[in-house]
Amino acid sequence: MSDSPKQVGVLRVFRIEEGTTVHARTLSDGYKGVFTHYVKRRSVLCGGDDCDGPTHKTPKIWKGYAAVELWNAATNHWNPFVLEITESLELDLRGKWRRGQVWEFYREMPTKKKSMPITGKLLEERDPSSVPPEFDYRPVLLHLYHVHAIHLGVLNPMPPRVIVEASEGNGPAILAGAGAGKPQMDAETEQKYQEFMNKMKKTPTEKKLERA
Ligand SMILES: [Zn+2]
Repeated sequence: MSDSPKQVGVLRVFRIEEGTTVHARTLSDGYKGVFTHYVKRRSVLCGGDDCDGPTHKTPKIWKGYAAVELWNAATNHWNPFVLEITESLELDLRGKWRRGQVWEFYREMPTKKKSMPITGKLLEERDPSSVPPEFDYRPVLLHLYHVHAIHLGVLNPMPPRVIVEASEGNGPAILAGAGAGKPQMDAETEQKYQEFMNKMKKTPTEKKLERA
């Protein structure tokens, strides 16, 4: 290894902001979640039975956290962070996340009409013993939400994406000859579909490599 001094820093939460692409390797065996409310333009922890009445009436938003390291290409090092996982990103991770994986996480810039979701693509599975041990990120969340205790065990209540399949059959007669819709795939299980979707996804890094 290089003889440059070891980088030391304070552990922080990493959110994937718009226009960001990062490569992460997973240290946690799994991610853990909490419910939050979005009040006065910031997220507060839902206190469950002790939650403030008016606050508790606002929608509950799930957020997940996990220990990861983000690749810093400038220093050729992996830097530890607490990854924040949105409800939408969790659908990409569900059933796939293991320790020792390399993921690309990205969020495209919003268009005029809509904001873009955070997306994750699994790139590599590595030997879990080849990555550093998981670190305790609970204190960081206590600071983040300014609370003395936090229960990290809430699952994302959002159901999996609804998987549909194109079907065969004659297209509208008026379009005959113009090529009717063909079935795109033969996904039997969501697992297969997830793998397919993961493969089909083009991350910003992959697009850049294609253009090169
Ligand atoms: Zn609440």
